[in-house]
Amino acid sequence: MAVEPFDAVDVIKAKRDGGVVPETALRWMIDAYTRGYVSDPQMASFAMAIFQRGMSRDEIRVMTDAMIASGERMSFASLGKKTVDKHSTGGVGDKITLPLAPLVAAFGVAVPQLSGRGLGHTGGTLDKLESIPGWRASLTNEEMFAQMASDVGAVICAAGSGLAPADKKLYALRDITGTVDTIPLIASSIMSKKIAEGTDALVLDVKFGSGAFMQAEDQARDLARTMVELGTDSGVATTALLTNMNVPLGLAIGNANEVRESVEVLAGGGPADVRDLTLALAREMLSLAGQPDADAERALDDGRAMDSWRRMIAAQGGDPDAALPVARETHTVTASVSGTVTRMEALPFGVAAWRLGAGRARAEDPVIHSAGIDLHAKPGDIVTAGQPLFTLSAEDPERFDRALEALDGAYAIGDATEMADPRPLVLEKITA
Ligand code: URA
Repeated sequence: MAVEPFDAVDVIKAKRDGGVVPETALRWMIDAYTRGYVSDPQMASFAMAIFQRGMSRDEIRVMTDAMIASGERMSFASLGKKTVDKHSTGGVGDKITLPLAPLVAAFGVAVPQLSGRGLGHTGGTLDKLESIPGWRASLTNEEMFAQMASDVGAVICAAGSGLAPADKKLYALRDITGTVDTIPLIASSIMSKKIAEGTDALVLDVKFGSGAFMQAEDQARDLARTMVELGTDSGVATTALLTNMNVPLGLAIGNANEVRESVEVLAGGGPADVRDLTLALAREMLSLAGQPDADAERALDDGRAMDSWRRMIAAQGGDPDAALPVARETHTVTASVSGTVTRMEALPFGVAAWRLGAGRARAEDPVIHSAGIDLHAKPGDIVTAGQPLFTLSAEDPERFDRALEALDGAYAIGDATEMADPRPLVLEKITA
């Protein structure tokens, strides 16, 4: 048996005491954990030390690189097209990938959108798309490549197990040890997968606000800067938009209802915030793909993005014309007074949708595609007493009470001068 060059306890103690872990030791730690030599308790302890002490920019770079090296590295160089991906740090009602990927592909750009499933209050893109009868999330690398090379161009599918397996193992461990929400671990986790995926360029949608991982604006900005630097240093042209997640995005929170809303946007309509964010991200993606003057708005309005969506859904076995699931039971909440909606907090609405069955508590649980919430008003809207504010949908009416509990105090109606968060949807752009 080969002799291990380091001792995990020494590496843990170095970080616990606030030191910088030398590059060779950090690379070994990640490799030995992937091989099973470093145990889960040891890695959990190391993750907690990172959570408490942070990491230098160089340590984050080495950690990212070590996680990339734990698995395969894809390459789309032979495609003959530019590849541009988007990653969102996750939020409530965030269905932007659905209209965005086919919109960008309508301009001949390949979009390799490896996505995940939801956990906790944030929904997963694959869960939403699986509301469409027949649609398949698992593709082989060859199928993914062929779809990107064809006139479809966009692929939204599950990441294969070969990409950054160290992150897969570490993320599951962080999830159960209270070590998810820290910049070095989030940045290295996201960027190791994106860099290993082999995209030429990447646009990050980094969220702040109650429904985001990094709730404080300055922490979200730090996360965005760290990820832009990691991407740029690895040769992936990376830009980030810092966006507001204090209020749910759009009017639909769930799965099937989010697909419905995405189709509205692809038909040139839909809620203004979903359309605006889709267009803002599309412009950044097209610009990184060498098409800064592409008219994304026109492609939404003239049906090209919708045609691209239909090709993408059909290529993965889905029927773009099939009826989407509708819940058996609904419960509508109305305004108790007249006035302006001043607050609708993303996090409690996400938790309520999750309790209705739209999300899962454990990775292996199923989601209920028909469950969720449809908003009838958003902050800034004027309502009169008795007017519907939002509708809960579930298969089982017993779920309504727990969802309503989560929403207690989550919204307010008052005077237009009392708006809870006047910051815009897209706060700023962060580049290298
Ligand atoms: N998403 C990831 O892939 N990793 C994190 O650490 C957080 C969000």
